[in-house]
Amino acid sequence: MIVVMAMGATAGQVDHVVTLIREMGLREHVIVGTERTVIAALGDDRAKDKDKLENAPGVERVMPVLAPYKMASREVKKERTVVRLGGSLGGSVGGNSVALIAGPCSVENRTQLLEIAHQVKEAGATALRGGAFKPRTSPYAFQGLGEKGLEILAEARAQTGLAVVTEVMSVEQVPLVAQYADVFQVGTRNMQNYNLLWAVGEQRKPVLLKRGLSATLEEFLLAAEYIMSRGNGDVILCERGIRTFETYCRNTLPLAIVPEVHRISHLPIVVDPSQGTGHAHLVPDMSRAAVACGADGLIIECHHDPEHALTDGAQSITPQTLKDLAQSLQLIAKAIDRNVQ
Ligand code: PEP
Ligand code: MN
Repeated sequence: MIVVMAMGATAGQVDHVVTLIREMGLREHVIVGTERTVIAALGDDRAKDKDKLENAPGVERVMPVLAPYKMASREVKKERTVVRLGGSLGGSVGGNSVALIAGPCSVENRTQLLEIAHQVKEAGATALRGGAFKPRTSPYAFQGLGEKGLEILAEARAQTGLAVVTEVMSVEQVPLVAQYADVFQVGTRNMQNYNLLWAVGEQRKPVLLKRGLSATLEEFLLAAEYIMSRGNGDVILCERGIRTFETYCRNTLPLAIVPEVHRISHLPIVVDPSQGTGHAHLVPDMSRAAVACGADGLIIECHHDPEHALTDGAQSITPQTLKDLAQSLQLIAKAIDRNVQ
């Protein structure tokens, strides 16, 4: 349920509504807007009596939230959420600027990562991606450098000011990754790892949540809801392609999700055209298409030597391609009254 307070409702009246919500066995989420305060009552409210809330002083009306996700829904919050990324460059996702997050699929060694970090910065990126813990289909494939990789990412941040986006694969890794990352990446394979979603929900750093490779939009938003329901509202959705019958690309990249997310949710959404296509030659065009349809950012795999990359070289563009791409993205962003950060 959403309790819409009357304009000019007092802080005491808001507190009273919060008390009533708690007495009903629900939890409150108070959103103080410029004109009025709205309080979302979270939990299973099907059998709850909303009369008590409707009659409380200062309440204008009480409405059911129709979507199964509550905190992620636009019904609860109309203004778009802007997530600050961290790093000294101070980028954000969800505002007027389209964020560019780029870097290798995985951190391979110090020289590789530092070289790419400087190059993506020069190309115009505000955040650096790179996996230290890699979820690989084969247990025999390169699994990432672990903590050593995190240390290298932190060094790259210190040298460039880029915010660090890196994957956390399990609940036990959360405290370690939190020491180094600016943004937790939750990978496609973990979108329904509810214990992990809760664990990052308890952190106070943004979470880039990738869509499960066979998840519906509703399941995706419910996964975001898991994170938000633990108090962390800084969720960045990421469309990274879904599994279909198609074989010419690694995944099928359904860009219609971008305007649809903007219609039903206030959360920002970025697009990963690298996992989304599996082919470097498709990445620039799909990046432009993503910005044209309103994506709040791109997360792109970029490698100075894709042929020798330990992971995902085939879908990694070079720093020069990234630089050229960033320039054309500016033109597209301008056409829709945005810019690229
Ligand atoms: C990645 O970003 O390298 C990655 C493994 O992503 P996903 O979880 O989308 O496959
Ligand atoms: Mn990858």
